[in-house]
Amino acid sequence: MYIIFLGAPGAGKGTQAANVAKKRGLTHIATGDLFRQAQEQKTELGLKARSYMEKGQLVPDEITIKMVVERLSATDCRSGAIFDGFPRNLEQAKALDKALAAQGKAVDKVIYIKVSEEELVKRLSGRWICRNCQTPYHEVSSPPRVKGKCDKCGGELYQRSDDTIDTVKQRLKVYFSQTVPLIDYYSRAGKLIEVDGEGAVDKISGRIVSAIGGEKGR
Ligand code: AMP
Repeated sequence: MYIIFLGAPGAGKGTQAANVAKKRGLTHIATGDLFRQAQEQKTELGLKARSYMEKGQLVPDEITIKMVVERLSATDCRSGAIFDGFPRNLEQAKALDKALAAQGKAVDKVIYIKVSEEELVKRLSGRWICRNCQTPYHEVSSPPRVKGKCDKCGGELYQRSDDTIDTVKQRLKVYFSQTVPLIDYYSRAGKLIEVDGEGAVDKISGRIVSAIGGEKGR
């Protein structure tokens, strides 16, 4: 089963994709995490992506699509995957359709996590993330038990350099102009399922799991 998690930055795609991937035994592919890892490891990919990410712009399709196609060819993606943060424009959506079709597969469902714009800005400014396990926290709505430390693994919490107010605004602008057309694209394909992304994290996960249906690993 190949599932896309669609939604604005701050909609909770990362948290929900990680939860649902675990519950359903699917591989979680987060392009933002792949780029950040590449930057930490100072690889050529990381260097290429850096300037775009810092400005809140999309990394060019050529680079992003190549990275995803390579990731998809790994054995842990053979029976399915959850895409988080990909595709982010029509070009990428079409490239994903093509890459899956080449293996006789297709996108099964697209979960569109809907959150109001006001809530998005609130969530993104004040967000802290575990450097080790990527669990997100929020200064006001979900602070860690010990300041600066992850509740789950004790890892150090950090603020993403692109979570500053100006970059957040730019990322939202990019989302509305380039990613929102995908809602129509997948809706026409009969694959879109809209889920309310506001409220308790576990409740939202429950809504998504029932929207996906089916059995574990399929
Ligand atoms: P995210 O962690 O998904 O918010 O992504 C952080 C940043 O990584 C984005 O603002 C982009 O610069 C880059 N990025 C992540 N996914 C993609 C993608 N599918 N296409 C282009 N750039 C991406």
